[in-house]
Amino acid sequence: MPKAQETLLEIDLKALEHNVTYLKSRLQPATKFMAVVKSYAYGNAAVDIAKHLETQHADYFAVAYTYEGEQLRTSGITKPILVLHPQAISFNILIEHCLEPNLYSLKVLKEFVATAENLNQKNYPVHLKFNTGLNRLGFSEADIPEILSLLKNTEAIKVTSLFSHMGASEDLNEKEFTVKQIKTFKHVTHLLLKQLPYTPMLHMCNTSGILNYPGAHFDMVRSGIGMYGFGNSEKENSHFKPITTLKTVISQIHQIPIGDSVGYNRGHISNAPLTTATLPLGHADGIGREYGNGKGFVAINGQKAPIVGNTCMDMIMVDITTIDCNEGDEVIVFGDYPTAEEFAATANTISYELLTGLSQRIKRIVL
Ligand code: PLP
Repeated sequence: MPKAQETLLEIDLKALEHNVTYLKSRLQPATKFMAVVKSYAYGNAAVDIAKHLETQHADYFAVAYTYEGEQLRTSGITKPILVLHPQAISFNILIEHCLEPNLYSLKVLKEFVATAENLNQKNYPVHLKFNTGLNRLGFSEADIPEILSLLKNTEAIKVTSLFSHMGASEDLNEKEFTVKQIKTFKHVTHLLLKQLPYTPMLHMCNTSGILNYPGAHFDMVRSGIGMYGFGNSEKENSHFKPITTLKTVISQIHQIPIGDSVGYNRGHISNAPLTTATLPLGHADGIGREYGNGKGFVAINGQKAPIVGNTCMDMIMVDITTIDCNEGDEVIVFGDYPTAEEFAATANTISYELLTGLSQRIKRIVL
């Protein structure tokens, strides 16, 4: 790759291929794979990634909102797309684009049935989500009789899958919690399966669930972060390759004498001679103020350059006092080193937040 001459997000489809192949090696051959490509495929490039995965790896895609699914459809993605968190106002558009809703409450189920009946749908594919402990979205066991009666009284929808979401699958100290979630899922799905005249698929595992709970893969798994290069543990990370590298460039170098300050609000006041490099990247790009003042660091020629002072909207300044570099040199914000996980940790956050928070104004280069 030529050296970056501006801020760029490089997305490596070979690394994606490696990660998905590894994840699938942990599944039984018949287990389906749902690729979670919400939020621009975790900040990457949803259409390029979905197009790449559609040809062989993904049986299903998942997005959060109807609009995200609509974008995939209008870009030519034809595989089934589950919309994890649709709102009733978008149900017409959702049906227009053959997107499949997650129906997670009696209210939402009734609203969707009304829309589907109104549009003369028959057996429209829907997915029912059960709350098994995350307490975010999902039906409870008490809803089952009414779900069954609603299903019996309409031909407009057909349940393609019953699913749930793990709340702590990456944390083996919380194994008891996850095992209880799995048990609850088996229990509620059993109650439904014995009454339904057909057999929907079951799914529950996210990336860490795939890796840590092979007994809970059921008919399908849903992976996001693993595809993008993180196994959520030191042990598993070695099997994954981060697909995303955020690169930028040194715009200007400054010598800062003792007593001078750097950046807005005099965020850093120099108590020793300091050399800084100004980079074209700031909180409008997703690198927020929490990374400033020495918390976050970037890599220049493989060496650590801490962020000096407050993050500006379109710029950060980094300490290059001990680094041999020049204006125009390439800078790695995260990639192989520091990794997105390491970089995110400096601001007390996680790679999911860092990646999905990267602004759309950053140029994406798909390799
Ligand atoms: N399933 C659901 C319902 C989700 O909300 C998410 C992500 O937030 C995933 C699967 C993918 O999770 P992960 O990125 O940990 O694989």
